[in-house]
Amino acid sequence: MAEDRFYVKFWGVRGSYPVADEEMLGYGGNTSCVEVRAGDHLVIIDAGTGIIKLGQEIYEKYLAKPKSERKNGLNINILMTHTHHDHTLGFGFFPPAFSVSTTVYILGPRVFAHDLEEIMSMSMLPPFFPVQLEDMGSMKVIHNIRDTHVIVFDEPGAEPKLFHMTDVPPDLPENALKVYNYRTYAHPQGGCTIYKFVYKGKTFVHGTDTEGYSGGDARLIRFARGADLLSHDAQYADEDYAKGTFQGFGHSTPSMAAEVAKHAKVKQLGLIHHDPRHNDERVAELEAVARDIFPDTVAVREGQRFDLL
Ligand SMILES: [Zn+2]
Ligand SMILES: [Zn+2]
Repeated sequence: MAEDRFYVKFWGVRGSYPVADEEMLGYGGNTSCVEVRAGDHLVIIDAGTGIIKLGQEIYEKYLAKPKSERKNGLNINILMTHTHHDHTLGFGFFPPAFSVSTTVYILGPRVFAHDLEEIMSMSMLPPFFPVQLEDMGSMKVIHNIRDTHVIVFDEPGAEPKLFHMTDVPPDLPENALKVYNYRTYAHPQGGCTIYKFVYKGKTFVHGTDTEGYSGGDARLIRFARGADLLSHDAQYADEDYAKGTFQGFGHSTPSMAAEVAKHAKVKQLGLIHHDPRHNDERVAELEAVARDIFPDTVAVREGQRFDLL
């Protein structure tokens, strides 16, 4: 029987590259990784360095189970938003992926006519990395997804199912987790996928690595309408962005994120993808800017968990 829970936990909220400076660790130094738990379903978004610690926890819990409960192996679902380094760097250090009893389902966009499998493999090629994707012991099942797809997790542990958006069966079990997506091209070299998780009437939208517009990104506002939690890129300070240097880099400001939250009437906004040059004080200042526009805003800290159910 599925446990009734729907939570989102952030294992990495730093953008671009990991940081270890003491004055930045209040918000955390690891790059993009989010754990989504809905009942017995577990879905991980992105494999930045935050996935390493999450992987250790998952694998230790799995090994602590009695052998009889381990006979079906460990199944892991990962949704990739895109494959820039800060979102893939941790995969080669993700303990479950080395185990022969693990199956890793990876879903994400095809970029520049390359399948996701090819791109994930390229991210670990020698001479840049000591282990190749193919050499990791787990079985990997990698699928491209498109905007028209809805990903359905109906049975915990089973392979995720892809449906065309007009073909989603109307009689899914009550505890099914549905994930919608669209590709934003407001991020350089191939865009980034924005995901929406829907479980028992509650909604989480993850909008990382996207550059907003003044007044808010209309497409994202429509997609995130009424969400219980929206996490949104807020890498650059508005005054720095206004100078022009960072325009076109594919990241947003606190006001862009807050405008989306306000117009989409979401319940809560989490600012993510913190600039690796910003210390804790600076991130808190950006949080205050967003709060002036949308009061229910929090600059997300590494390890922070949001319970939506
Ligand atoms: Zn990024
Ligand atoms: Zn990126």
